[in-house]
Amino acid sequence: METFTVEAIVLDTKNFGDANKVVTLFTKEFGKLEANAYGCRRSRSPISGAMQMFNHISAELSRGVKVDIIREADILNFYDALTADLERLAYASLFFEIVNRMTLPLEKSSETFYLLEKSLPVLSKRNPKVAALIGACQFMEASGMQLNFSRCVHCGAEIFGDAAISLTDGGAVCMNCVEYVEECRPYPEALRKTFETMLGFDWREDTKLNFKSRQLEVAENFFADYLHSILGNELKSEQFIREFLTLKI
Ligand SMILES: [Zn+2]
Repeated sequence: METFTVEAIVLDTKNFGDANKVVTLFTKEFGKLEANAYGCRRSRSPISGAMQMFNHISAELSRGVKVDIIREADILNFYDALTADLERLAYASLFFEIVNRMTLPLEKSSETFYLLEKSLPVLSKRNPKVAALIGACQFMEASGMQLNFSRCVHCGAEIFGDAAISLTDGGAVCMNCVEYVEECRPYPEALRKTFETMLGFDWREDTKLNFKSRQLEVAENFFADYLHSILGNELKSEQFIREFLTLKI
């Protein structure tokens, strides 16, 4: 039996059968990987604690015919606060769902692994909505899918002041080029500064995060539109967030 060891963040889990889970891991070594964890929903299972979403784990797997199997797992870090608070859970799930939907299996990315690792303590202690938006922005940047926020996608000029932005053309459009672009929307300076600050955030727990709520709302709506334009539909966690916000009102 061929076995191998990984360090991973648990991106998602789904129950199957009486006591099993299929677990989606983002591993440091191989990128995203799906594996079966048999019997892990039984309380006496030695791997039951580790097979929870948001855990940072090390695991030993064996190669299966169709899918790999988790044999042993140890928790390196866990974040109780994420599952104890519905709002944190909702936003952390949204960020993890974006990463899961937009990554292919077995594409190694140290940047994505470390981003997930660094985001978890911030998601569990600070404003989870801001942390999730920063996480999603930095993930898109690391995976090369990000819009160009700072330079005109047509002429390459650096953007100053208010400009336009095109989701279909891939980013900012300067005022000189705006007439050549069919679909674009306003791109106020405040929105550019918000995204630039988010992309530069270092995930330290003492780094200030001061966004005006209006700025944040505009950035959030804009980014959600961009994600929908790529994915073609809404994410499951967005529905969860909407239901949660309705409950709160
Ligand atoms: Zn231009």
